[in-house]
Amino acid sequence: MMSTTITMETLAIKTENKFRTLVTKQAYKKGEVICSMPSENIMDKPNRFTVQIGREVHTHVGKLAALNHSCDPNVILDTKKMVMIARRDIEKGEELSFFYPSTEWEMQAPFICICGASNCIHVVAGARFLPLSTLENHYLNPHIREMMIELLNHTQEHLKSLK
Ligand SMILES: [Zn+2]
Repeated sequence: MMSTTITMETLAIKTENKFRTLVTKQAYKKGEVICSMPSENIMDKPNRFTVQIGREVHTHVGKLAALNHSCDPNVILDTKKMVMIARRDIEKGEELSFFYPSTEWEMQAPFICICGASNCIHVVAGARFLPLSTLENHYLNPHIREMMIELLNHTQEHLKSLK
């Protein structure tokens, strides 16, 4: 089997007025794997350097912690394969961003999004605070999908119990 090592050497962190962005030093085609996601440093609570990869599993992602949120992102974090993938063609020098609720169920530090996308969700607090109709338009990782279904089932049970 051919083995490929995909490092983060093609990525750079830019800091402007204390605002960090992650930019790519090379172009990518839609669907291409950009890098692997680090998973050496696992914890059970989220913080601003982590990405959620399971129900109660969060990993420090190193350089990828500089990835900003966008409601119309250009990359996907696939927490099953543990890789970052180009969601569309990306040009050299472009800022990379992903849809935070695609990995985060309940964020430690919610914020207001000003990405300007026509489908902007405005309040970025995690998947549990978004309607299914919004989530359906995005790539969702298995743990988010699972928790969303569970939440819906609980809500239905609860509504039944009120009748
Ligand atoms: Zn937005």
